[in-house]
Amino acid sequence: MHRPVLACASLLRLEGGRPSLIGSRCADCGEVYFPSAASCTRCLGTRLQPHDLGSSGVLWSWTIQGFCPKPPYDSGETVDNFQPYGVGYVEMASGIKVESRLTSADPALLRIGMPMALTIVPYKLCENGERVSTFAFEPSGEHVKEREHV
Ligand SMILES: [Zn+2]
Repeated sequence: MHRPVLACASLLRLEGGRPSLIGSRCADCGEVYFPSAASCTRCLGTRLQPHDLGSSGVLWSWTIQGFCPKPPYDSGETVDNFQPYGVGYVEMASGIKVESRLTSADPALLRIGMPMALTIVPYKLCENGERVSTFAFEPSGEHVKEREHV
């Protein structure tokens, strides 16, 4: 598989083409951070280790980003060609909530509590022709499969 150029390579692990989010976990108290942290705000410990958050979670809350964000957002889009996108918090198995772009910007397809899976989506096309990708969560689970078979 072609390995995508990522806007946020340090946040992801790509193995066998299946992405997972990488944060950190405090070796002293077990608190999990995403993005990874250098010290623990819970116990003030500094022994943090890379921690694989997995690739699936549950949609905790969401909204639609309806206007082009200000920098440091740097997709190259302008107010004229910006495409709205969903953004939400996805609660991972460890309980941590990860803010992420969503693959859907259709409110009819998003529901709090629905299962979500991590994927890689196009983010921008650079002037040198390089295509940069980022992570996003897409709805997953049985109800999605049922819809696809209709
Ligand atoms: Zn700690």
